[in-house]
Amino acid sequence: MKALILRLSKVLGLFYLARKLTANKTRVLCYHGISVEDEHLFRPGLFMQKSTFARRMQLLKEWNFTSISLDDYIDQREQGVVKKNAMVITIDDGWQAILEGMWPQIRACQFQATLYLSSYFIQHRRPVFKVAVFYLFWKHDGLFKPAQDSCLVEYRGKELNAEMLLEVVKQLGSDYERPILLELCAYFGESSDAWQQKGKFMFLSPEQVAELHNQGLAIELHTHKHRFSEVGAEEARQELQRNQKAIVEMTGKRPEHFCYPRGEFREEQLAILNDLGIRSATTTDNELCSDTHHIHKLPRIMDNDSISELEFEAEVSGFMTLLRGLGR
Ligand SMILES: [Zn+2]
Repeated sequence: MKALILRLSKVLGLFYLARKLTANKTRVLCYHGISVEDEHLFRPGLFMQKSTFARRMQLLKEWNFTSISLDDYIDQREQGVVKKNAMVITIDDGWQAILEGMWPQIRACQFQATLYLSSYFIQHRRPVFKVAVFYLFWKHDGLFKPAQDSCLVEYRGKELNAEMLLEVVKQLGSDYERPILLELCAYFGESSDAWQQKGKFMFLSPEQVAELHNQGLAIELHTHKHRFSEVGAEEARQELQRNQKAIVEMTGKRPEHFCYPRGEFREEQLAILNDLGIRSATTTDNELCSDTHHIHKLPRIMDNDSISELEFEAEVSGFMTLLRGLGR
């Protein structure tokens, strides 16, 4: 039904009209990682197929959006002269597969892009624990029964689901993450070594981040351990400062733009951003960005592997923004 309405709207020229009416708004696009094997089936919002991403870039090129850097966008906003039909490409987290699956396509289109980097898994190179755990339970659809020699001494022979296991490891501390993941992979018949070799659930290495920066990808803030709204003021500040320090060490350039992990923040936390001189911050509110949006609450278009080309066009053209506006 939705597809039919969108198709009809496009045929009637409403996408074209929406594009004209929203030309002064900026499309800030949000991407995450690239699927190495079947992760796009697991979390299509977190892992996009390389082919889907390449096609998106091709479409944006065909639709004649002007790619500008985040720095340029904020400069233009401050000067009150934001270019029409501008778009800003942002990538969250720092997944390793973007190296092959995104960056070459971005460069081929001569687009600018920003990577909001979480630094913990750049420094601690192993599969991202929480995501890997959810993936294993999703794929194998069963409970985990720690063996009699498991390091989870108290849970030997008991049955755990993903949430229970994550809670147990949270109590035990992050030193348990690696041995537990090895146990869990062995239990479900997967190899975390093979994952590591393929870059599945892996973040970039510090050297790869430095190289991407040298090639023109802007590296910006996403906190050290991907935590912000859930921690207190002092810890949130430290998350940003550790992240900032790690990025400066890799790139030699001080990051000034921030993306809230999961797009979440508490209103009183905006003071921390002001204190640290952070020029802009983006959320996961799915919307076009206008110069009336708060500089620390910039919305983005959240792209996703399960979004059809027609739905993508409906968002990017501004048609959905206008529709939502009418709804309100
Ligand atoms: Zn993130």
